[in-house]
Amino acid sequence: MSLLSGSSGAAEVQSIAAPPVLVDRYNRAITDLRVSITDRCNYRCVYCRTGNEGAQYSELPMADYIRMVRVFVALGIEKVRLTGGEPLLRKGLVDLVRELSNLRTVRTGELLDLALTTNGHLLENLAEPLKDAGLSRITVSMDAVDPATFARITRVPGSFERVLAGIRAAQRAGLNPVKVNCVLLRGFNDDQIVAFAKFAREEGVIVRFIEFMPLEEDRLWTPESVVPLREVVRRLESFRPVARLSPNNASETAVRYTFDDGVGEIGIIAPVSQAFCGQCSRLRLTSDGKIRTCLFSQSDHDLYAVMKRGGSDAELAGYIERTVALKEARHHIGEPEFLKPSRTMVHIGG
Ligand code: SAM
Repeated sequence: MSLLSGSSGAAEVQSIAAPPVLVDRYNRAITDLRVSITDRCNYRCVYCRTGNEGAQYSELPMADYIRMVRVFVALGIEKVRLTGGEPLLRKGLVDLVRELSNLRTVRTGELLDLALTTNGHLLENLAEPLKDAGLSRITVSMDAVDPATFARITRVPGSFERVLAGIRAAQRAGLNPVKVNCVLLRGFNDDQIVAFAKFAREEGVIVRFIEFMPLEEDRLWTPESVVPLREVVRRLESFRPVARLSPNNASETAVRYTFDDGVGEIGIIAPVSQAFCGQCSRLRLTSDGKIRTCLFSQSDHDLYAVMKRGGSDAELAGYIERTVALKEARHHIGEPEFLKPSRTMVHIGG
C-alpha cells in the first residue's frame, strides 16, 4: 500500500507493509472513524455540560485533520463522521467536506461514506452547501419536540425553531434520510417519546432514541435515569403497534422499528441495556488529534504528537495500528468496576 506524505498531500510516496484493513485483537474490523473538529459548542445541554465550562481542548488546522483522515482511510476506514463540540461552528467546514468527500475506500474503491452530527442550530444556511460539497448523510440531535422543554434542555431560547428549520433545510437539500437523535433521561424528556413518533411520521425523518450513558460533565447518571429499549418500545406501542425492521448491516447500532401502517421509522440505540461492543467498528479522533479506542477509555493516544514531531504518513499509520491493538473489549457501564472515562462526551465527539 502507498500513502501520500505531508499535510499538503504532496508528492513523496511511501510504502507501508500493513494490511489495508484494521482489525483489533478481538477480530473486530475497524471501519468507522468519528472526528471531532472543535471542542466548542453553542448549546449547553443540561445532561451533557455543566453550563460553566467551555472548550477545554484545542482544535487543529483543517489540513491536519485531512492528512490524518487520509491515513486512516488508507488503512481501511470506510465511514467518517464529523462531529464536535458543534462542528457547524468551525469555519472551513464546507471545504473540509469537499476534500474528504473525494476520498475512496481501499477495499472497494467507492467514495467514503461521509456523515455529520450536529445540533442543527446553524444548519438552515449550511445544509445545501454541505450537500453540494459531497456530504452523504446528516444526524441532528434534538432531545424534545416541545419547544419549551427543548429550550430548557439546550439553555438557548428559540433553539427548537432553529433546529426544526435546519432539519427541514437538510431535507430540502436532499440529505435524505435525515436522522434525529434524542437522548432519553427518565423524568426529564421521556414524556416526549410518543410526540417524537408523531414527529417522525409527519416530518419524514428517522428518529432514534439513545440510552443515556455516564458521559456527562455533571454527575447525573444513575441506572434509574436510563430509559431502556424495552420501555421505549412499550411507550411506542401505547401509540400504535410497532413492527421490527431488519438491520441494514451487521454492525448497525440501532434496533429499527416502524408502525403497523408502515409510516415512520424509529431506531433505538441501547448501549446500556443491550451493549453492542462485540460489533464495535469505531475509533474516535478528538479535536486536538488524539485517538480514543472507546468512549469509556481511561486515556487518549496522541496521534497529533507523532505528526508534530515530523512523523511520516507511514509512522502515523504504524501508530494507528498499534493503538487499534489496544482497543478495549467492552465498556463496563453499570458494573462495580466502572470508572468514569477520562473525557466527557462533548470533549470526545459523539
Ligand atoms: N454538537 C453535536 C450534536 O449535538 O449532535 C455533536 C456533539 S454531541 C456531544 C453528540 C451527541 O452526543 C448528541 O446527540 C448528544 O445528545 C449525545 N450525548 C451527549 N451526552 C450523552 C450521554 N451522556 N449519553 C448519550 N448521548 C449523549
